[in-house]
Amino acid sequence: MRGPLNRTDTGGRSHALALGATYPYWTALPYRELPVAQRPASRSYDVVIVGAGLTGALAAEALSDGRRSVLVVDRRMPLAGSTSASAALILSELDAPLTALSASIGQERAERLWHRSATAVEKLLSLIARLGIDCGLSTRKSLYLAGDRMDAEAMAAEARARNLTGLRSQFIPRDALMAQYGIDRPAALLSSMAAALNPVQLTAGLLAAVARRGGEIVANTEVLDARQSGGRIHLLTSDGDFLSAGHVIFCTGYDIPDGLQPHESQIMSTWAIASEAGCARPRWLDATLLREASAHGLHIRTTPDGRILARGEEEPDPFAYHAPDKLAEKTARLADRVSTLIGMDIGKPEHAWSGAFGTTPLGLPVIGEIPGLPQAWAILGYGSNGMTFSQIAADIVLAAIHGRDDPDAMLFSYPEGSLNRMPA
Ligand SMILES: Cc1cc2nc3c(=O)[nH]c(=O)nc-3n(C[C@H](O)[C@H](O)[C@H](O)COP(=O)(O)OP(=O)(O)OC[C@H]3O[C@@H](n4cnc5c(N)ncnc54)[C@H](O)[C@@H]3O)c2cc1C
Repeated sequence: MRGPLNRTDTGGRSHALALGATYPYWTALPYRELPVAQRPASRSYDVVIVGAGLTGALAAEALSDGRRSVLVVDRRMPLAGSTSASAALILSELDAPLTALSASIGQERAERLWHRSATAVEKLLSLIARLGIDCGLSTRKSLYLAGDRMDAEAMAAEARARNLTGLRSQFIPRDALMAQYGIDRPAALLSSMAAALNPVQLTAGLLAAVARRGGEIVANTEVLDARQSGGRIHLLTSDGDFLSAGHVIFCTGYDIPDGLQPHESQIMSTWAIASEAGCARPRWLDATLLREASAHGLHIRTTPDGRILARGEEEPDPFAYHAPDKLAEKTARLADRVSTLIGMDIGKPEHAWSGAFGTTPLGLPVIGEIPGLPQAWAILGYGSNGMTFSQIAADIVLAAIHGRDDPDAMLFSYPEGSLNRMPA
């Protein structure tokens, strides 16, 4: 069976995901050295994971039990994808408000998605604790400000809907918002079950755990083609090697292989900044993730050394993030918007970077067996909660490979006929 990766035949365009003109803040910090090989040691594995970012690392950690042979293969070095660009706000709140999602897909399904997201954040935090990964993790509250996507009335309704299903959320009216946070907006929602961390240290820690259990990490090796025959998946790599695997999991981030991108998804460009260490900021911000319910809304957090890190200014163009003049313009705008919002001048950013970012109309990921390619899975983590979705994906794929039923799996699978192009 022909797989989805044969770019030569399809003539499709792949999205080159270099990280823009400067380097993300996280790559300037130390992280665990990994045992990385240039060629696989074997030609046959129980599981091959394509992509050594957070999604691949979480899937590999879940699947490497010391008995199963696991290979993680990346066409670049590990951590060269969007993981290192992430602002790493770990959110349980989905992009689509519970009220809007209920109206769109029904209350029961919407509530399940919201609860699943909250559980995923809890599971990620306990995994980090269990493995003892030092990644600057701190739990935070999440303050979501009314904007052009949600006014005060919609926020009050959202708070009611969340509280009714047991997702605690506090509605904060304008006066209280100004008194407690010094922010002049019509309203906000305050929730818990959120966190901030260093995504590079987290992913390196997970990959190190995989290596300790005998998993292999291979760099600079692109998977070019995938076919299924005889109950195995056969992969062709850029070195001309053929690898055989019981299961393959494509965790290729926003570098989505031809044929696997669902119709309604869109790859966008986004920009991020990190201020100088110890910049001016309100005290409450160190315990809070701050976001706006607006198109191009800001996502703001602080780092352990007192920087403000902000992301936003999205554009619906998958390549705009490469442009150096845009980086300068977006950096200035992000710094200005953050300073205005918190009422303090955060100064000139010390780091600025850009990256690609995928969205779907409901902000949900696609996690599922690839139609037409049994035993091969794709994990496409769309939306602002990409990192939370990576945890959900690892759980769903682990259950499927163990033959266990995950009642939520169908909420994330490829909808019928949703692919841009089915594998031939
Ligand atoms: C600026 C920015 C800010 C963000 N902020 C947040 C945030 O605050 N919170 C949040 O939850 N999410 C955020 N995200 C999204 C989050 O970063 C992603 O959801 C997450 O990092 C995706 O991880 P991944 O492992 O799926 O992808 P990646 O980290 O991109 O890894 C994919 C890997 O696959 C490799 N690869 C691709 N194709 C092949 C192939 N054919 N063969 C071999 N290897 C291949 C690539 O080289 C890459 O290393 C942000 C993204 C950006 C760009």
